[in-house]
Amino acid sequence: MNLSARIPKLHLHCHLEGALRATTFVELADRYGVPLRYRPDAAEQAAFADEAPTPVDPADPYRFADFREFLLIFAAVSRALQCPDDHARLAREFVADALAQQVIYGELFVSPSVWTFFHPQLDVRACVEAIVAELRAARPRAHFALIADLTRNFGPERAMATARTVATLRDLDVIGVGLGGDEARFPPALFAEAFAFARAQGLHAVAHAGEAAGPESVRDAIEVLHAERIGHGIRALRDLAVVALAAERGVPFEVCPTSNDLTGAALPEFPHPYVALAEAGCTVTIDADDPTLFGTSIAQEYARVEAAAGSAALAGYVRNAVAASFAAPELKRTLAAQVDAACAELDPVR
Ligand SMILES: [Zn+2]
Repeated sequence: MNLSARIPKLHLHCHLEGALRATTFVELADRYGVPLRYRPDAAEQAAFADEAPTPVDPADPYRFADFREFLLIFAAVSRALQCPDDHARLAREFVADALAQQVIYGELFVSPSVWTFFHPQLDVRACVEAIVAELRAARPRAHFALIADLTRNFGPERAMATARTVATLRDLDVIGVGLGGDEARFPPALFAEAFAFARAQGLHAVAHAGEAAGPESVRDAIEVLHAERIGHGIRALRDLAVVALAAERGVPFEVCPTSNDLTGAALPEFPHPYVALAEAGCTVTIDADDPTLFGTSIAQEYARVEAAAGSAALAGYVRNAVAASFAAPELKRTLAAQVDAACAELDPVR
């Protein structure tokens, strides 16, 4: 049996909303009368540009053509999550799917500023409480924490407001802030203040960069935002000085192969960017990003990487995920032992 089928798995880059089962999305959207594809009105165009939409098929509601259109589906999913019960169901089904794949640990993104953009009256704390109750129910088989995404599309002021909210949620396993959304139009430097605030509050800081923009975005995420990990980061490969910077500072890259193919982030000259980054001395983890929206899973991403780079490389990336996580030292030791046991079982000679 391949290592990917039995090795314990870690999510360091997974958006909880992007893990909503397609059938649940269609059911909730139907219940609330929410279209399966978000269409921004004139006032909302600044946040969500709508170009060349793909026809929607309810049997395949997550099909899209490009990154902008993907963001519109993510928006539609967020519109269909309207109360704490919906968020509880999202988390409950996520946990079931995760345990079925032997996930033992996850730091999951949630995007409260997207929730409240569509549902201004939503009680964010109540929704996070509902999510966390389900995530905690997975212990001791799996441990999960949350990272709140500040969402570039809404600009720096709203990011700061979200960071202030996030700082009040630390008792609910919210351990950090992230920065996803439209990287091309909203570069890292815009969010320096919100990130400085979050870090001063003792929150961890991670950022998507080098996905829809180039190496300079990765450099700024490291040097301006002081991101402790980079989401994707693959476009740093176009400037080896930036790759060297990440390697020197020990800033890991969370590489999400299927996501990168489907959003157009992938670089044709680097078909296996995780290998190229690892060879350049960077720490690499393998992640699923928005697994159901991309028609994948963490197990499928591991299998894909094992097929391309080999079992030893996969084992290394999984060990990297343990080390690059924000888990407490004792939990890290437990996670590392579980990963080592699976590797030893497969290859007792090691
Ligand atoms: Zn992401």
